[in-house]
Amino acid sequence: WSSTHFAWTKELEASNKRVFGNRSFRPNQREIINATMSGHDVFVLMPTGGGKSLTYQLPALICNGVTLVVSPLVSLIQDQIMHLLQASISATYLSASMEWSEQQEILRELMSPTCTYKLLYVTPEKIAKSDVLLRQLENLYSRGHLSRIVIDEAHCVSQWGHDFRLDYQHLGILKQKFPQTPVLALTATATASVKEDVVQVLGLSNCIVFRQSFNRPNLRYFVWPKTKKCVEDIDNFIHANHPKECGIIYCLSRMDCEKVAEKLRECGHKASHYHGSMDPNDRAYVQNQWSKDKINIICATVAFGMGINKPDVRFVIHHSLPKSIEGYHQECGRAGRDGQLSSCVLYYNYSDYIRLKHMVTQGVVEQVTSASGGGSCHEQALETHKDNLLRMVSYCENDVDCRRLLQLIHFGEMFDPSCCGKTCDNCLKELRWVEKDVTNIARQLVDLVMMTRQTYSTPHILEVYRGSMNQNVKKHRHESLHGAGKHLAKGEAARILRHLITEGILIEDVKKSENMYGSTSSVLKANHKKIDDLRSGKHIIVLKFPTA
Ligand code: ADP
Ligand code: ZN
Repeated sequence: WSSTHFAWTKELEASNKRVFGNRSFRPNQREIINATMSGHDVFVLMPTGGGKSLTYQLPALICNGVTLVVSPLVSLIQDQIMHLLQASISATYLSASMEWSEQQEILRELMSPTCTYKLLYVTPEKIAKSDVLLRQLENLYSRGHLSRIVIDEAHCVSQWGHDFRLDYQHLGILKQKFPQTPVLALTATATASVKEDVVQVLGLSNCIVFRQSFNRPNLRYFVWPKTKKCVEDIDNFIHANHPKECGIIYCLSRMDCEKVAEKLRECGHKASHYHGSMDPNDRAYVQNQWSKDKINIICATVAFGMGINKPDVRFVIHHSLPKSIEGYHQECGRAGRDGQLSSCVLYYNYSDYIRLKHMVTQGVVEQVTSASGGGSCHEQALETHKDNLLRMVSYCENDVDCRRLLQLIHFGEMFDPSCCGKTCDNCLKELRWVEKDVTNIARQLVDLVMMTRQTYSTPHILEVYRGSMNQNVKKHRHESLHGAGKHLAKGEAARILRHLITEGILIEDVKKSENMYGSTSSVLKANHKKIDDLRSGKHIIVLKFPTA
């Protein structure tokens, strides 16, 4: 699909430059566009920021007729339309919250022979509930004017997904009613089972699948202990590896940003801080100086980064613990967009976790009291946040497994750690190993999952198994089960549990998404077909463990 000899190639490349201002295509964009423009149904899995919008907006511009885009949130739709109108592409939307007269006006325009709309965005409930819209679409279709159907955030179709929406279940009707119109389904978060579900519900039995890995081969990952001399360490690291190059240092608090920036300036770096409580003009000034390379280091809170497209960021340093693996992956992802080798360093200590947990608890409480949300919603969000934090801690405390493997497992991706090529701290260690039979420990973990009725998350199961007596363990009255794994070395139980997940003996069943990265929390379930073999002794588990 990467051919540059399609009938539309010339126009495609010209419009990409002229209308969208892009110099080239990102990975898979050209391939996806060629496949959908050839009339195939296409399923796309691409990480956030990968550039999914272009894969339907560019075809919409080039093809005759109207592209129908189903998107879950009116705010997302409005944002997209604003960008399209800025690029002089005619687009509109229909939502249930609009005045009826306004909706009729838009529908009338769509039917008119002089209609200029290239894209029509709708929320899924319009498809599920509006017969008028369906009749108008039938009309468009019969005149050959329905050029493409796009299902954005397609994972919402699946009950297995973290963001299931009932109205998405009705979208199968589109393929039934408009079999000749190509469908393009897009998502950033789909495991294999979600993908199967989406394909089945939407009726895309012969679709072409583009799956993009979340692996970033040009990024090197390191987790190092955070000491009192952290800023000195950062200074040394930059001097040794990235002198005068451009980078971001993520700090926990606004004050940290200012302090770190000041110390780095004292060390001779051109550093500045950036955070939410600065004057907007100052903020814009800092960002501007940074993009012009007048400043090469920005010490920022996570507020910095959204929409930052600087290609030559050579390092992303975390001066404190990120809030989740998704967030961490996304923040690191701002390094090396030009494909050149770049570094991601995380300075970790346990007390940052305690501090962050406190902040997260306070933060969520504030959010809920200011919104009208109910108590259970608050509890759910808080659990998700804490779960995410614990996963991050376990990532940092793991001093054995490949960092890429740990990140990619989190996104439901398999990764062979021998492919890391010693580009993470753990793979660089060249540890010596002993083999251990851990079948018994594996059985105990599976039993624990069963005894707690398959309703708890991986971090919680680990806490219970290792005998932690934190509040959560007490609250759920799991003291009586706890502690079988007390004798294990730090991280061993986590490794065995992870192995059970990668082997498909335990399954992380995704539950709900609440936080800003669309991150998920999940409960551990057992795969009954496989646990029998484990219990009967048919399946023996031997793992390698590092020796001192
Ligand atoms: P996604 O929907 O996959 O999260 P977007 O479609 O919002 O990603 O694109 C993310 C950013 O990348 C946008 O700012 C977009 O303008 C930019 N972008 C997309 N394609 C290209 C390209 N080929 N070249 C440069 N920038 C691009
Ligand atoms: Zn590695």
